[in-house]
Amino acid sequence: MENTDFVKISDLLAHPSQIVIITHTNPDGDAIGSSLALSSYLIKKNHQVRVIVPDPFPDFLSWLPGNESVFVFKSHYDEAALAINNAHLIFAADFNHLNRINEAGRIVRESKAIKILIDHHLYPSDEFDLKISIPRTSSTSELVYDFIEASGDLHLLDKDIAACIYAGIITDTGSLSYSCNYVKTYLIIAELIRLGVDGEHIHRLIYDTFSENRLRLLGFSISNQLVVLQEYNTAYIVLSADDLNSFNYQIGDTEDVVNYALSIKNINLAALFMERDGLVKISFRSKGHFSVDTFARNHFNGGGHSNASGANCSTSLSDTVALFRELLPRYQSQLKSVY
Ligand code: 5GP
Ligand code: MN
Repeated sequence: MENTDFVKISDLLAHPSQIVIITHTNPDGDAIGSSLALSSYLIKKNHQVRVIVPDPFPDFLSWLPGNESVFVFKSHYDEAALAINNAHLIFAADFNHLNRINEAGRIVRESKAIKILIDHHLYPSDEFDLKISIPRTSSTSELVYDFIEASGDLHLLDKDIAACIYAGIITDTGSLSYSCNYVKTYLIIAELIRLGVDGEHIHRLIYDTFSENRLRLLGFSISNQLVVLQEYNTAYIVLSADDLNSFNYQIGDTEDVVNYALSIKNINLAALFMERDGLVKISFRSKGHFSVDTFARNHFNGGGHSNASGANCSTSLSDTVALFRELLPRYQSQLKSVY
């Protein structure tokens, strides 16, 4: 399952290169944190680096050091395409299939650059020339630390790089509440704090910066839209485009909403269905051995991790939810005992 081309990738970086780092659509804390940490490190190694995101990232990540130089593919198409075409090396960070970056994926696929994966999702595609792919790792940000360490460059870490890595680890582990049983993660966090990271301040910047609308949308989601199916140990929330509009939805506003559905006792599968940009975006979460990666992959053409996955469907909101409900009887016994 693991691919660790650390040495080959370090060797490729011996000479200054033009490098693009690209991350996934709906970028989250780990996507942006890992990309910016890797970018700052590579700039210190005298490379020219451009970070590209397919679409904008949430406001609560806009304090991350280096974020101001990120190109948003959607709004800077020409510059982003030129950077991809001129790159010697392209790093794909925090996703493992080029179809996860929409139109940018075609341009990356066609580029002559050496394509390098750095990611912790299951089942990487074979579209990459070299891979750092370790699914058991907490986050891609942790892998960036591992890569810098394996390259003998820990002395290049500074407070800004450390803050990006810290933000990635914290957001991808729900503040160390899942994917959090590896000693190495804590050793890295200790080192990041030693480098000057203020964990309490970063927590506030990420989690205590809700708009009033975002908090009210969370309240509405739980109070009005939550469906609990005790017989299937399942709970889900449905948000239509109208619902989102009525709370003046901004990117990132539904981050973590699905986790409230999973927080109910004996609920082992949770889902959030959201009507966005003409698609239904689904977030799945589970407890224990029930794999929502397999579930999303088999039924919704999605994927992710064993306990957190997603999908984007072109079916209508009601048809997508109906399919989900129809599937549940098949999984009833698996969902009963997940430990
Ligand atoms: P979220 O629910 O936070 O958007 O995503 C949860 C996990 O599933 C993330 O690791 C994300 O990368 C992955 N994921 C979300 N949407 C998709 C999708 O459409 N396809 C695949 N393969 N993975 C997805
Ligand atoms: Mn991640």
